[in-house]
Amino acid sequence: MTLDRTSADLLDDEPPSTIPSPAPLPDTLRERLADDPALPSLPAAAAEVVRLARADEPRLADFARIIEKDPALTLRLLSLANSALYARSSARVTTCLEAVSRLGLDATLAAAMSFGLPRPGPGQPLDLERLWQRAIIAALAAQHLARQLCPEHAGLVFTAALIQDIGILVLDALDGEIYRSRIPDLTEHSALCLAEQRFYGCDHARVGAWLAARWRLPDRLTAAIAESHGPLEDEDPPQLCVRLSCRIADCWLADDPTLAFSGLLRQLLELDTIDAQRLERLLEELQAQLPSAASLFEITCPPDIDHHSLVQEAKQLLFAQNFRLSQRLAAQQRELEALQASHSDLDEQRRTDYLTGLANRSWLETLLALHFRKAQTTRQALSVMFIDLDHFKRLNDHHGHRFGDRVLIHFASALKGMVRENDVAGRYGGEEFLVLMPQTRRGQAGVLADRIRTTLATEPLAHSQGEPIHVTASIGIASLEDADFAEPSELIDAADQAMYGVKHSGRDGINHYRQ
Ligand code: GH3
Ligand code: MG
Ligand code: MG
Repeated sequence: MTLDRTSADLLDDEPPSTIPSPAPLPDTLRERLADDPALPSLPAAAAEVVRLARADEPRLADFARIIEKDPALTLRLLSLANSALYARSSARVTTCLEAVSRLGLDATLAAAMSFGLPRPGPGQPLDLERLWQRAIIAALAAQHLARQLCPEHAGLVFTAALIQDIGILVLDALDGEIYRSRIPDLTEHSALCLAEQRFYGCDHARVGAWLAARWRLPDRLTAAIAESHGPLEDEDPPQLCVRLSCRIADCWLADDPTLAFSGLLRQLLELDTIDAQRLERLLEELQAQLPSAASLFEITCPPDIDHHSLVQEAKQLLFAQNFRLSQRLAAQQRELEALQASHSDLDEQRRTDYLTGLANRSWLETLLALHFRKAQTTRQALSVMFIDLDHFKRLNDHHGHRFGDRVLIHFASALKGMVRENDVAGRYGGEEFLVLMPQTRRGQAGVLADRIRTTLATEPLAHSQGEPIHVTASIGIASLEDADFAEPSELIDAADQAMYGVKHSGRDGINHYRQ
């Protein structure tokens, strides 16, 4: 018997270059884990399955032979294969080989691994019941998504989603009571990750990937666990399925699932990943599969949700939130327009730089604060460019201060001609200029910076005794997507810092802010 495509997925490790290795653990944590005998160990049968999976041309019969040595596992695989999750026809499977061939290698491996992991039971200090409920919801959701987005990886995605939180068990085995006192309860997954990050220097996804690598699980599976907390913008369908599955499980188990799903729905609609109808179908299928999955894994079935009214209410909530958002946005827009349109002479003087006629520093800061708030409300892009002319003191020393002034005036007018209508160019101080670029991501901002450099290189800003005078600039760019900026001033500081990077590497260049 040969492996079908889905079964073969785990075996089909791509060349190492295409699978990013997970970031290594912080040294202290790695050393502590390496010495800890109490970590979850891979059940013997699962270890054999993994070893065989790495062999050349493994055959299903070989897997079945290994598993048959463990009667309890064999029984569970048979019930899994005959459960509503896998039984496509009424034919019951009765042998281990039939079960393995119906399940495929990934699900076989997942079952072998998961049945050996700590189970919920009386007196367990960690809420394992909840952890398993989460794992099963995630695995089923991931599988549903994968069948639509990347059917050939459905098995891998199921397994990765099922064991993505295995790192929690590792940290609990390592520090027990101390770990549990450090983390909030398990319902707040992102708060949990933040707490782990603070105490261990990384979250449980990286710890889980470390364990998976130690168990010699396939590289793709290890990478999927390591990356399971990443953003939903991911282009790689299997990775997206795993990441989304974790969010769906959180929403399902949230205190207020309607509110939670409406937040998720907003994100999904923004990313154009799945629409409300598809989400509803997913929840419906999940609802139908959960009881048998829960009984297989011997956990209490997660609470029922009324998927139809939940999605309808989530949509209404989203609509109401969008409405409030658009009202707030309109008010912000009016404020911005009113500010920009107030044309009294006094205002004009207050806003402009006396030498160049560009926006002055305080006006730049006022406008940036407004654009910053607006970009936060709409989650739109915003970039800031910091331009510092190079060796300007030398230019003054050679040609005189007045000459320097004329160069500044010419640069300002060239800059004004280069920025787009919605950009704001201003003089931040001395020979330093700022460009605010609403709705502009770092890539587009880089294009404008290139244009400024090319113009400076080709068009002289002044002439002295008939000779063209070229000035170069050091340009730093910071964009909202570069970091978690809480204040507008932090964006300017970041662009300034990036600009200093150019100064340090010899001037006349462009640098994007990196955290
Ligand atoms: P770097 O490449 O490191 O930026 O060198 P720099 O000389 O441009 O920078 P530095 O900060 O050492 O000096 C800034 C110079 O800009 C000194 C100052 O005289 C000149 N400057 C500042 N404001 C004006 C101005 O309004 N007019 C003129 N002509 N020069 C100015
Ligand atoms: Mg300067
Ligand atoms: Mg300078």
